[in-house]
Formats: sequence, structure tokens, C-alpha cells
Amino acid sequence: MNDTQLPWHDAQWRQLQQRRTAGRLAHALLLTGPAGLGKLTFARRLGQALLCESPDTGGDACGRCRSCRLFQAGTHPDYSPVQPAEEGKVIKIDQIRDLCAFLSYTPQYGGYKIALLQPADRLNVNAANSLLKTLEEPLGDCLLLLVTAQPARLPATVRSRCQILSFSSPSPDIALPWLKARIAGGLDAAVLLETAGGAPLAALTYADGERWRRRKELADNYEQVMAGRLDPIRAAEHWARGDLAENLRWLVSWQIDQIRLKMSPQPPRLNNPDLRSRLRGWAERQAPRLLFERLDTAIRLHTLCVTTQVRTDILLEAFLGDVAGE
Ligand SMILES: [Zn+2]
Repeated sequence: MNDTQLPWHDAQWRQLQQRRTAGRLAHALLLTGPAGLGKLTFARRLGQALLCESPDTGGDACGRCRSCRLFQAGTHPDYSPVQPAEEGKVIKIDQIRDLCAFLSYTPQYGGYKIALLQPADRLNVNAANSLLKTLEEPLGDCLLLLVTAQPARLPATVRSRCQILSFSSPSPDIALPWLKARIAGGLDAAVLLETAGGAPLAALTYADGERWRRRKELADNYEQVMAGRLDPIRAAEHWARGDLAENLRWLVSWQIDQIRLKMSPQPPRLNNPDLRSRLRGWAERQAPRLLFERLDTAIRLHTLCVTTQVRTDILLEAFLGDVAGE
């Protein structure tokens, strides 16, 4: 098993191989499910396998043929990955026009032509409309792979023309052995996995010591604001350093856990089991309604941060000011 063959993808892989064997592989596949499950890895694995000149019995690419070598070098002429030109921006209509032109050419190697769009929810309206025409008139052996953790953001007209392939968090007995084999000793794989909401690849990124240290620092920081020992403006500056979207994800998950701890002395699960007593202490100081309001605000901040150019750092300042003002 190589790095692209993730054990929790087995069912989806088999399902696609069956469809392929039966000649029922759709022209457009929409890969959906939470972030951190490897949907993009799956899409690339499928793309390479369909282009490979001698796939193995399980339908995977051989990794050695001319087509595989071009694919791995990122220069396969029948493969076109499309993503926003800059992170956080949209996929523009010009990019989709180029893609449609690519799909209309005869494949250079006589097999499939594969286009991969990710994150597909970043298609702007015009780009989505332009893509619709292609979805309505599929051209020969073309496969469009659309990858998104937020399918609801795609126009219904696009969604309805795709075959859906959904991914969900694997059970811990599949995820934990995989994760344990990839992290340093001394780290608790179960805590990392819980913190990542069960998504193994997200858990693996948290296993990076720097990230984990940063999370602890932000928790200290939040507590100091709450206790009136740190100015919210200074605190917000600190939060805005580094990956603000990730920092806001922590904030959301702490709010969720505080609500769980407020509602039940022993909640069945927590996103941050290692911070249990600290989060319980925070939750005890606040009314349930306030906790729900905070969760709403934290989710809104995170959404604004990842989908718009709004200055979330300023809004975060107001959020922390509110925390300090209790
Ligand atoms: Zn090959």
C-alpha cells in the first residue's frame, strides 16, 4: 500500500472500480466530505490510475509507465488540475474556458482526459455557468473530478449533474493504527484524532509539534484575556499571526466543547479531550446562552476568514474584548 492508498478509502475505491468495469463511470464525480480525509489524494489516485498504461488488478496505477511518470512530474498532457490562482480566491471563468478547450481536444495518449477542480466550491457564478455546458454535453472519455468539503456552496445545477462520492471519518480502529505509524512517540494518537474530529490527515498535521505548541499558547492567551490579565487587542494581534483560519478553527472547537461540558458532566465526546478541565473551567463561568452566542460568532468569524477578504483580525479583537468584559 503506498501513500495515496488510504485505508479508509477502500469502499469508495472498490465502488468506483465496479462502476468502471461495468462501464458506468460518470463523466463528473463530486467528491465530498469533511476536510482532512484525503479526498484530493483520492482524486489524484483515480486520475493517475485512469491514465496509467498498465494498472494493477486493484485498478491502481503502476507508477512506472510513461503515463505514470508524466503524471508524477505534473506534465501529463491529458490531465488538467484547476484551482484558484491564489489561495482563498475564486476559480475564474477564464480558467474554466481553458479547461473546456482542454476537454474538447483529442487526448494525446488516446485514453482518458481528466480534469480536477479543487476546491470546487470556489467556482464563481460565471465559471460555474460555463462549466455547466461541459457537464451537459460530456465529451468522449473525459472525467471531471470536483473536490469540496462544502458541496452546499456549489450551485444545485452543478451538483445535480455529478455522481456523488462521499467520504466520512473512519472508525478509530482504522484511523488509529495508520496515525500511530506516522507520528512521533510521546504523542497521543487518540487525542490528536479526537481533536481533528476523526479526520486522520488533519490529525497528522496536528502532530507537528509547532502547531500543537501554538494551540496551547492560544489557549493560555484566551484564558489570560478571560481573567483580565491580557489586553484583548494585544491578544488579537497574537491570534492573527500565523494561520488565522486554523486559529479560528481552534476557537470554534473550544466553544463546541464548552457547550458539551456545560450540558453534561461527562459528555460522550470532546474535540479537545486534553483540555477538558480547562474548558470546563471556562464554561462554568458563562451562561449557556452566552456560550451558544459565542459559538455562532466564532463560526461566523471562521467562515468570513476562509471565504472573504474581510479583516477578521479586527472582528476577533471585538470577540476577545467581549470575552474580557465578562
Ligand atoms: Zn502506469
